[in-house]
Amino acid sequence: MSKKLTSRTQDYSKWYNELVVKADLAENSAVRGCMVIKPYGFAIWEKMQAELDRMFKETGHQNAYFPLFIPKSLFEAEEKNAEGFAKECAVVTHYRLQNDPDKPGKLRVDPEAKLEEELVVRPTSEAIIWNTYKNWIQSYRDLPILINQWANVVRWEMRTRLFLRTAEFLWQEGHTAHETKGEALAEAELMNNVYAIFVENFMAIPVIKGLKTESERFAGADETYCIEALMQDGKALQAGTSHYLGQNFARAFDVKYVNKEGKQDYVWATSWGVSTRLMGALIMTHSDDNGLVLPPNLAPNQVVIIPIYKNEEQLEEISNVANGIMKELKSKSISVKYDSRDTFRPGAKFAQHELQGVPLRIVIGPKDLENNTVELARRDTLTKSIVALENLAETIESLLNQIQKEMFQKALDFRDAHITNVETFDEFKEILDTKGGFISAHWDGTSETEDRIKEQTKATIRCIPLDNIEESGLCVYSKKPSKRRVLFAKAY
Ligand code: AMP
Repeated sequence: MSKKLTSRTQDYSKWYNELVVKADLAENSAVRGCMVIKPYGFAIWEKMQAELDRMFKETGHQNAYFPLFIPKSLFEAEEKNAEGFAKECAVVTHYRLQNDPDKPGKLRVDPEAKLEEELVVRPTSEAIIWNTYKNWIQSYRDLPILINQWANVVRWEMRTRLFLRTAEFLWQEGHTAHETKGEALAEAELMNNVYAIFVENFMAIPVIKGLKTESERFAGADETYCIEALMQDGKALQAGTSHYLGQNFARAFDVKYVNKEGKQDYVWATSWGVSTRLMGALIMTHSDDNGLVLPPNLAPNQVVIIPIYKNEEQLEEISNVANGIMKELKSKSISVKYDSRDTFRPGAKFAQHELQGVPLRIVIGPKDLENNTVELARRDTLTKSIVALENLAETIESLLNQIQKEMFQKALDFRDAHITNVETFDEFKEILDTKGGFISAHWDGTSETEDRIKEQTKATIRCIPLDNIEESGLCVYSKKPSKRRVLFAKAY
């Protein structure tokens, strides 16, 4: 298989799919819409998980685990949530197979083994969790409950794409219970901020924090906070959501508590999640026609060392130098791999590590041995330089920090250059067709206008940015008065 990728300008979506497969991140499976995440892809996901998990714990949350299956009667209890997810649910109806009497060697569902109550494979876990919280909460002393679960969920999506939208995906879902509305709102906003900090600082992806409009809100939420990112092809991607659920699930599952005044009230709730979709965001924000570009914080190997030698004796000398470098890097918690495989030529190794986005490549050859130098190549800028062996670990440490910052800045500059203020609908359509990106425009606040714009342009309101100041204007579509601009874009 050729290692070369289709270029982004030629066919962005083909480039993306080829990159995911050739960089060994994931591949399609025998199950429609479900992917196999390969070891290299999973190692990156594990880095995300570890940092998010640390941040959740730092903000007072604990992990727990709830069942994969939700009895249908529980699932339908919160009506809006049930209605919103009903069309995408996988449902278990039987619990046994048997030999098919008509087809030797084949199995069939045992008609006698029909479940009394059908089980929904969780598309999200509010129902099973709130049914449990009912038993855990009696008084204000039992609150707040701050729980996160790492899990898989199933949403029977029709149009799927590796990482970005799969039928089964991995995610974390936080589910919290609070005494007051104010506390729940603060929690929803706090976790949206945690996501923003993680995605910006760790993944080097700039995001816009905002609120979803009613039609884009999570089914069952009173308010959905989100972070929105911009991909290189000018399309937006919802990178994370945090929902303020009001008392909707507490009412549906009858979860009441006795407050400090001795009165009963329904409990207030939030839920929040990010998924393996973040892998897609990572790829589509930073990568290039040579393959994946990883910010150092997410790279399974931050540095790779490749020896260039003519004979065993040279290899031994180079390996001695390499071992010294590795020791120093490891003492600084920098991950490094020595690629001394003799089954591949250096060129093939360069191409592989480039495709897989290793941030820094060190090459050591006979000349370097003489001069006490190495060749250092940056994956993000594809630039090379000869550097001294002396203080190499310090040089690399500061270079990795610099790469992390510069990758963020580059993505931020691109994002900011792709936010366009428009005043008329003609301008709106033109920008969408020519430049893409986010369009900042006035909107009259109605779902009708939002629907019309979506029908005519495929652009949706990505969010009402939290830091947009009030500014009176006229709706870009209906010309009715508007108090603030919102962000439109075509989205993944
Ligand atoms: P939600 O529960 O709908 O608010 O989604 C929680 C998180 O999962 C958000 O960050 C979504 O962008 C992401 N997400 C939703 N559907 C999918 C999917 N089919 N595949 C991957 N990620 C998804």
